[in-house]
Amino acid sequence: MYKTKAYSAAGATSALAYTTIARREPTAHDVQIEILFCGVCHSDLHTVRDDWHSVMPTVYPSVPGHEIVGRVTTVGSAVTKYKSGDLAAVGCLVDSDGTCPHCKAGLENYCPNQILTFNSPDKHLGGVTYGGYSDSIVVDERFALRVPANLNLAGAAPLLCAGITTYSPMRHWGVTKGKKVGVVGLGGLGHMGVKFAHAFGAHVVVFTTSPNKEEDALRLGADEVVVSRNANEMQKHAGSFDFILDAVSAEHDINAYINLLGLDGNITLVGAPAKPLGVSAFGLIMGRRSLSGSAIGGIPETQEMLDFCGAHNITADVEVIPIQKVNESYERLLKSDVKYRFSIDMASLKAE
Ligand code: NAP
Ligand code: ZN
Repeated sequence: MYKTKAYSAAGATSALAYTTIARREPTAHDVQIEILFCGVCHSDLHTVRDDWHSVMPTVYPSVPGHEIVGRVTTVGSAVTKYKSGDLAAVGCLVDSDGTCPHCKAGLENYCPNQILTFNSPDKHLGGVTYGGYSDSIVVDERFALRVPANLNLAGAAPLLCAGITTYSPMRHWGVTKGKKVGVVGLGGLGHMGVKFAHAFGAHVVVFTTSPNKEEDALRLGADEVVVSRNANEMQKHAGSFDFILDAVSAEHDINAYINLLGLDGNITLVGAPAKPLGVSAFGLIMGRRSLSGSAIGGIPETQEMLDFCGAHNITADVEVIPIQKVNESYERLLKSDVKYRFSIDMASLKAE
């Protein structure tokens, strides 16, 4: 066991503050990574503030962060994929049982015994796992990912959650050329959804509550932008979408989007508002439409996504911040004031 620097929250109403935490010494299969950048996901905020108490209560102190890129500093004796000095990344998962049908299919993200990067039971040290708002992390090499060398590291970090969470359902639901695809909520996830849908050749329509994001949406790859508070604009798209990705973090009317789906259209929720959403049965019945959800992605698909981003030079649009500004970044997330992901430069933690 060793101590490493981190930012943690002591409770649901506490600000994140400097602390030190324990990490395990690398075992034979582990890599130890010095963290260079960590993205700020809205799930970090939901967890720190215990928004998801009824589903996955937060254990404090809580160290969030699951969009991690860094450099390997130590490898265990049995590690084969990495050597000291390599770039490596860690996303939302650090372990799974490896034996269930989902794990065997490379869908560790649906393993019933998955261990998340933060707020999951830590079988090595007890307590819960601690995430990437930290100097270093130790992870089984099966859950480390290769980062294409051409990618900007601050912008690559958000690929580990915002990237894979939008890439995976779009692949699953067949987003390709000729499809009309909507993306609801132009935040961290949404803006990656726009980039992927555009790269896959779809006709992309962004739905935003923020009129000041219109120009950016087009630059990011949207073909059309709809300010969702404008009912007339919404109505123009009624019954026309093959697929809609809903990446909204707060309560909103999902029926307004279900009505925009065409026959057999699908809307997938990746946004995870704390409160249940009310769904009109008629919206789904009329048109054999479907509503589904999707959680991050498995390890093989996460690597596929990173390699796709390397080949197409795709990264997140980031505002790089020192860790000392992380509390401020949470307040801005709550105001939809993010363009389009905060990425923490972890060098700032060394100064603490
Ligand atoms: P984010 O950067 O804060 O973006 C959320 C966006 O939602 C905002 O920028 C805003 O976009 C829109 N929005 C916010 N409040 C709204 C409201 N009241 N009504 C309508 N639209 C609103 O958040 P994120 O990091 O992308 O995460 C989005 C959600 O996905 C969170 O709930 C997060 O926990 C969840 N998530 C799920 C997974 C998964 O595996 N399924 C993975 C990661 C995150 P506009 O300004 O364009 O309206
Ligand atoms: Zn996330």
